Amino acid sequence: MRKKIVAGNWKMNKNLQEGIQLAVALNEVLSKENNSCRVIIGTPFIHLASVSERIDKKKLGLAAQNCADHVSGAYTGEVSAEMVKSTGAEYVILGHSERRTYYGETPEMLKTKVRLALDQQLQPIFCIGEVLSEREAGKQFEVVRSQIEASLFDLSEADFSKIILAYEPVWAIGTGKTATAAQAQEMHAFIRGLIAGKYGKKAADDCSILYGGSCKASNAAELFANPDVDGGLIGGASLTVEDFMGIVRAR
Ligand code: PEP
Repeated sequence: MRKKIVAGNWKMNKNLQEGIQLAVALNEVLSKENNSCRVIIGTPFIHLASVSERIDKKKLGLAAQNCADHVSGAYTGEVSAEMVKSTGAEYVILGHSERRTYYGETPEMLKTKVRLALDQQLQPIFCIGEVLSEREAGKQFEVVRSQIEASLFDLSEADFSKIILAYEPVWAIGTGKTATAAQAQEMHAFIRGLIAGKYGKKAADDCSILYGGSCKASNAAELFANPDVDGGLIGGASLTVEDFMGIVRAR
C-alpha cells in the first residue's frame, strides 16, 4: 500500500550552517518519535552532502530540489542527477511551478529530468498544478492531465511506481490561500483515476499523491483526512522544527 509522506521544500532559504542546524534538530526530534509517515527534506544543493552525513535516513529522507536535464558536460552552473545521488540524497523534487515559471522548464525537459533521476535511482517528487486563471476557466483537470501525460506517461509501469506526485495548485503556493479539502480530494481522485487508466488499479492505489500549497499545522489534518491525499509537500512551514513537526504529527 502507498506510503504517507510529508516532504519539506526549503527553496532558496538557509545558509549552510542554518540548514545543517535545522536538519540535525529535525533528525533529533524524529528519532524520539514514532511517526506514521515518511519525512523528507528538500534542501538546496549545497546542503546535501553535509546534511546527508548528519542524519539517519531511516528517519529523515533527503531530496534535492532539481537536477540537470543533461548527463554531464559543459553546462555551467548545473548539477546532474548523478552528482545529486553521490551526495547521499534519495529523492529529487522535479517540475516545481517556480522552476516551470521562472526557469522555463518545459514538460519535455522534465521528462528528460525524470529519466535521468530514475537512471540514478533517485525517486522523483513530481509537481503538477494549475495557475489561478486556469482554475477560474475550469481547466484545472485538463492542465494537470496534460502535465502528467507529457512528462510521465512514457514511463514503464516499473519506473512509474517510483514516482511520488505532488499536486500543487499554483495559486495556493506561498499565498496563504489553501485549496479546500474538497478541492484537494477532487483533484487527487482525478489523478488517481488517470493513473488507473494508464497503468491499472494497483499502480494507482500504490502511488503517493501529496498536496502542496500553504499547508500548515492548522490545516494539515483536514487536508490529510481525505482518502486520496497521502501527505504534503511543504514550503514555508518546513523552515522551522515546530511548524514542520506540527504537519508531520498531523499526518
Ligand atoms: C512549495 O513550495 O512546494 C509549497 C507548497 O510552498 P508553500 O507551502 O509555502 O505554499
